[in-house]
Amino acid sequence: MTSPADSAADQPDYAPIPQSALGPALNDQGYYVGRVERNLYWVTDGVYNCAFLATRDGVVVFDAPPSIGHNLRRAVDQITAAEGVTNTVTHFVYSHHHADHGGAAFLFDGDVVRIGHEETRRLLLRDDDTARPLPELTFADRYTLEVGGERVELAWHGPNHSPDNIYIHFPGHDTLMFIDVVNAGWVPIYNTNLSEDVPGYMAAPSTALSYPWTHFISGHLGRLATRDDVGVHQSYIADIEASAREALATVNPVPYFVAGGENAWAGVKGYLDAVTERAAAPIVAKYTGVLAAADIEVFTRTTTFAIMQSLRLDRGPSGPVHP
Ligand SMILES: [Zn+2]
Repeated sequence: MTSPADSAADQPDYAPIPQSALGPALNDQGYYVGRVERNLYWVTDGVYNCAFLATRDGVVVFDAPPSIGHNLRRAVDQITAAEGVTNTVTHFVYSHHHADHGGAAFLFDGDVVRIGHEETRRLLLRDDDTARPLPELTFADRYTLEVGGERVELAWHGPNHSPDNIYIHFPGHDTLMFIDVVNAGWVPIYNTNLSEDVPGYMAAPSTALSYPWTHFISGHLGRLATRDDVGVHQSYIADIEASAREALATVNPVPYFVAGGENAWAGVKGYLDAVTERAAAPIVAKYTGVLAAADIEVFTRTTTFAIMQSLRLDRGPSGPVHP
């Protein structure tokens, strides 16, 4: 039998995590809460991030990852006590419907106004999860939230990571919150950060940069991001796109289909795996030591596969037209 210590020792020899990828140390309760600017705060458990605005009239909470869970309440209580403002949560905003960012929303109950995109409400109705109560205040394109003299601009600019993922702009705090597209200092995990709309995912960072801000609250992984972080992410995705185009234009499918014989899927797999491998290899080499976990080959490879498929299927051509 293998003990947990043995399995940990069996970890592949990944590149060291760049110091720049890491955030502040967590407290004994397993969280860190920090000021972003003025009365806007962010909370992390080292992997997930969320935020709250501590106004004179009440607290507005933005996302509630279950991994942070009750520590979010502790963070709100800690800060509001120190600042001498109310700890009553009056508003809760969903960035998108996913349970890993909103699954502790139920902790903020009572007289709370929940706000989300209309598609967030539709998806939460579908998902029927009591941990994520429905937003009663919804919007289609834009909504301005004004609480305690503060202003927050919520906007939907089309599907990306999820169909309902919104941009949360704090014009009075020089901050944008935008979840699950850019990971501060880290590569996206599997398949463009598990995104549903790949062209939307690829275009979203330039929309984020079109807003004025200095501080960026991304969903992951334990630190705030900068405009430079978004730029590095954009380069990583653009390099994958260019490399995938090159590999699609270069790898000859015929030998793989010949080798597959009557097993057509074997031919398809051999060809697409070869394209993916050729496209991903230079990206892994270039970004190891730049973005954390770039050398976890399955992350760059699956993201490359997703982008390569989107190039074929969304933008076309998917392949040559039979003569
Ligand atoms: Zn998500």
